[in-house]
Amino acid sequence: MNPTDQSKFPTVVIIGGGFGGIQVAKQLADKPVEVILIDKHNYHTFQPLLYQVATGSLESESIAFSLRKNFEGQKNLRFRHTEVSKIDAERNVIITSIGEIAYDYLVVATGSTTNFFGNKEIEHYAMPMKSIPEALNLRYMVLQ
Ligand SMILES: Cc1cc2nc3c(=O)[nH]c(=O)nc-3n(C[C@H](O)[C@H](O)[C@H](O)COP(=O)(O)OP(=O)(O)OC[C@H]3O[C@@H](n4cnc5c(N)ncnc54)[C@H](O)[C@@H]3O)c2cc1C
Repeated sequence: MNPTDQSKFPTVVIIGGGFGGIQVAKQLADKPVEVILIDKHNYHTFQPLLYQVATGSLESESIAFSLRKNFEGQKNLRFRHTEVSKIDAERNVIITSIGEIAYDYLVVATGSTTNFFGNKEIEHYAMPMKSIPEALNLRYMVLQ
């Protein structure tokens, strides 16, 4: 996918449909750019409510919403459901599970992972809670 062949506007690729990526995408709504928003999930996770999913007071669908639907009114944005494995900054392309995607400007908003501070034993036994599957794992363990 080579945006410079298709559009007269520069292409902004945003990796990550979390709070950061969504905010950038919205701010670019009326700007002369083509926006490609990429996430490995087709939904946004509202992380502050993961506790409620883990403790059984909310269902997971209450804290996840479709990224594609959220941006369906934004004409200059396309959503791609794929995982980015590499950034080739020399060629201005990112490598994803659906192929290469070219960019003029790149925003990396991929969030963070749980930090075990190098403690392999804690990493092995602990149950982190940064995603819906992880919150559900906790919930099932508590119920069992
Ligand atoms: C349990 C919990 C409770 C919290 N409570 C609060 C709170 O009360 N108040 C508060 O202000 N903050 C809270 N936070 C923190 C807040 O949720 C984060 O600071 C915020 O989500 C960070 O936003 P982000 O856009 O940087 O990353 P994220 O929201 O993590 O989004 C990153 C996105 O990038 C995608 N992604 C990652 N890697 C790739 C890849 N290689 N390819 C494609 N897509 C990728 C992910 O799927 C994800 O959608 C909480 C966090 C947690 C875990």
